[in-house]
Amino acid sequence: MGVATLFSELYVPALVLPLLILFVVRSLHHNELQRLQKELEHSQNFGRQRERERDLAQEELFRRLYEERELNKEKLQFQAQLAEYEKYAALAQLALGAAHEINNPLLGMLSHLELELKDTHDPERRQEIEQCIAGARRISSTLRGLVDYARPTPPVLSRISLSRLIADTLILIEHQPMLRNKLLCNRVPSDLPHIRADANQLSQVFMNLLLNAAEATPEGGTISISANQLTFVDNIEIRITDTGSGIPPDVLPHIFKPFFTTKRGKGTGLGLSISHAYIRSHNGEIRVDSVVNHGTTVTITLPLHTNANAEESKDESQMVV
Ligand code: ADP
Ligand code: MG
Repeated sequence: MGVATLFSELYVPALVLPLLILFVVRSLHHNELQRLQKELEHSQNFGRQRERERDLAQEELFRRLYEERELNKEKLQFQAQLAEYEKYAALAQLALGAAHEINNPLLGMLSHLELELKDTHDPERRQEIEQCIAGARRISSTLRGLVDYARPTPPVLSRISLSRLIADTLILIEHQPMLRNKLLCNRVPSDLPHIRADANQLSQVFMNLLLNAAEATPEGGTISISANQLTFVDNIEIRITDTGSGIPPDVLPHIFKPFFTTKRGKGTGLGLSISHAYIRSHNGEIRVDSVVNHGTTVTITLPLHTNANAEESKDESQMVV
């Protein structure tokens, strides 16, 4: 055996073996690394998914907490409203009794004053009596308003033409001093479909709203009334718009409350509350939009076919206006 052969037989395996082991160890190490890396990625994905789930759960929790808070707020509002209604109901009963007690002697005093006026010729004395009569009439009309509000009679329905009813109401008020130098526009189309409603109640509502508009509008301003049939619902919408003082946002929530008035000493604060009661008894709605120093729009929505809790007019043909 040559030296070279001996060398290759002894030393080559001794050199190759560690290399082989090194190679195997490295490849095992590499595989393990890859496996661990995959596991790490997997755990990272899992962690991210859990985080997303946690975020979603947190959002849901916040949403529920918010909803619960809103529900609690609504509950408190309803409770306050209920207490308010109960207060009004008690007040209405009290007021009805008081109204009767006051109105009867008042009417007696009024007729006595009217007789006295006939027999008096002294101008100064006549003026005094006239002032007493005006005061007594004002008390009487406030009482009537109060009774109307406290015990609204169910509407007596008949087939009415809104355009005619509105035109007739405008005739009643157009010569009032409070409308002097103010433009009163009737934009109600004459071809509106007829509706079933209580003509007296609706006329009183329009009168109240037009007078409010006139009182709020300065000379040179405009008050207009318009109406149209809504397309997809069987409703008619009537709008009374003025270019008056508008209603401040802190006043707006109170205007439908009985006796609420900003016209100290001049208003009864019953116009809007009675109008609201009448429109509700027709299954309608009344809404007020207002911008201070620009004006106010009152929108009334009335169903074309009322099935309100109402009485039918006995003699329908006479009620058509
Ligand atoms: P009154 O007219 O006797 O004050 P209402 O019930 O008719 O009572 O109106 C209540 C309040 O609503 C008024 O005092 C006024 O402040 C406000 N208001 C109603 N309509 C208008 C309007 N068109 N423009 C400005 N304010 C209005
Ligand atoms: Mg009024």
